[in-house]
Amino acid sequence: MIVELEKELAPEAKIDLLLKLKAARCDCRDLPATDCERIGILGKPGCSEEEIRRIPGVARVVRVKTPYKLVGREMHPQDTCVRVGDVVVGGENISVVAGPCAVESLEQALTIAREVQRAGACLFRGGAFKPRTSPYSFQGLEEQGLRILAEVRETLGIGVVTEMTSPSQADLMMKYIDVVQIGARNMQNFELLKCVGRMGKPVLLKRGLAGTIEEWLMSAEYILSEGNRQVILCERGIRTFEPYTRNTLDLSAIPVLKKLTHLPIVVDPSHATGMREKVSPMARSAVAAGADGLMIEVHHDPDHAMSDGAQSLYPQQFRQLMRDIYVIAPVVGKQLDFSHLERVRVIGRKRKNGGTRRRAGFMGRIGTFSHKACLQYFGEAAEAVPLPTFQSIFEAIKADGIDYGIVPLENSLSGSIHENYDLLRDYDLRIIGEVAIRITQNLLAKPGTELADIRRVLSHPQGIEQCRQFLSQHNWEIVSVSDTAGAAERVSRSEGNADAAIAGLITAEIYGLAVLAEGIETNPRNYTRFVVIAREPIEHRKAAKSSLILWAKNEPGALFSILQVFAEERINMIKLESRPIPGEPWRYMFYIDIEADLESEAMAGVRAALAEKSEYLKILGCY
Ligand code: PEP
Ligand code: MN
Repeated sequence: MIVELEKELAPEAKIDLLLKLKAARCDCRDLPATDCERIGILGKPGCSEEEIRRIPGVARVVRVKTPYKLVGREMHPQDTCVRVGDVVVGGENISVVAGPCAVESLEQALTIAREVQRAGACLFRGGAFKPRTSPYSFQGLEEQGLRILAEVRETLGIGVVTEMTSPSQADLMMKYIDVVQIGARNMQNFELLKCVGRMGKPVLLKRGLAGTIEEWLMSAEYILSEGNRQVILCERGIRTFEPYTRNTLDLSAIPVLKKLTHLPIVVDPSHATGMREKVSPMARSAVAAGADGLMIEVHHDPDHAMSDGAQSLYPQQFRQLMRDIYVIAPVVGKQLDFSHLERVRVIGRKRKNGGTRRRAGFMGRIGTFSHKACLQYFGEAAEAVPLPTFQSIFEAIKADGIDYGIVPLENSLSGSIHENYDLLRDYDLRIIGEVAIRITQNLLAKPGTELADIRRVLSHPQGIEQCRQFLSQHNWEIVSVSDTAGAAERVSRSEGNADAAIAGLITAEIYGLAVLAEGIETNPRNYTRFVVIAREPIEHRKAAKSSLILWAKNEPGALFSILQVFAEERINMIKLESRPIPGEPWRYMFYIDIEADLESEAMAGVRAALAEKSEYLKILGCY
């Protein structure tokens, strides 16, 4: 049950209350606060519910309906992110664990680990204790396999995941491994579950061959009840009557689990299908269905693999799959970010040297799309700082009040955000990265509001622009405000039911609004590209793209001669937009994006040629 405490209870009163609960033989757990402080009681308390209700300081007692208490959303409504070093599984990320079924040799493990790491996998997997159907099949390299995994981690700096099949392996796992996997065959090995619960290392818990979702959650409950909250669930297919695939991948488990539990969910399409060519389609579907990540078997020489070669992807297939996931993820509001780990490490190192955590500014308030972009780019590597205007972000970086900023530069429906181009031109800051997020707009109003009640709609001008078609069907007054979350907040504070806001779904949650209409943007292919700005690049690394502003000379063929430089050097131009030069009627400047690192040594000639052929040139950043 959940015990809700009275608001503003003095700390001594809370201690007193806890002592009374303990005296009544209640197994108490701290729970994350919602709108009040809460204590969870597990199992059957040694006194009646009524007696608990009468303890001073108790506001309310709520029974938890599900048998899984710590795993369910009643006690813990917010999503859990599992941390493995710098890797975060859950939240806005898609995390991919990849590697061979079994560790076969140091050379094999390193070869595959290098491949999957280069393709964007954030953790390396490989079995050392293999639970095989036949006792005569390869059983794994055991401790030697674990030592190889530890060496892979030392050499490449990638966390390692392996299966533990017996509590007797606990010490070895503690010594060599970052994430302990509980295999499908052991989902209900309760001694093993209790053991990994006490070990405290992150656990990847696979679904049993014939495990129901409730049984699976109860297994996770065993681990959490021992004090270990770092559990990742892994759907790997269940036994059905269908023989065409090794198992049947239960993708519907993802939305079911998302509702029931706060734990992150990854999908293993390799063991689910058992066939190489079926792995990528199911992996793509899993991400589209809302999975937080994938576990994929990869082998450089699958024909000679000691186990599960037939379902292992070739490295080239894995690379292609990762590119596909990169495209799919933003559609469901997530991100597969190939350089996220490297970036988080660099920013983390800076923190260690400088002492304080880095700060990244975004415009508006918590819950805006800018805030989401900031979270997707930095994760927890930097603190997200809300600021009132775009210019205040540039000013704060210049004055060293914050380290980074994130500003929208263009939207796929409504075009460039000129104010930010102007600021990039005027301030001596650089673009150091970018992130694109899908924008979905919704009509939000106070609970109980009907469409017919609405008279006024508030939103940011971009939000209004993106929903023109929907708005044209209604005769509402349209009010522009500075950000979408601000619109939602104003509606939540308004009198009556005449106001509605256009904003993202997350703001509905933050401001307690109801969703009257979902996905009302005219075109669903609605993406905003945000750029990250700073005084200097995070670290010099190979850039794929450069953004620049230039003014062509006022003479025949001026723009043509500039474009000729790109053509002759075979540089792909991905954006060219003209815009009036402020204060110079009928003269135009150009925004240009190219697929090249204009600041590299090799591009010195191109830089010189561009400078020579234009009246003004500013490289906004290479990233
Ligand atoms: C594995 O991951 O190699 C494995 C044996 O998986 P499962 O337990 O899902 O069969
Ligand atoms: Mn396997």
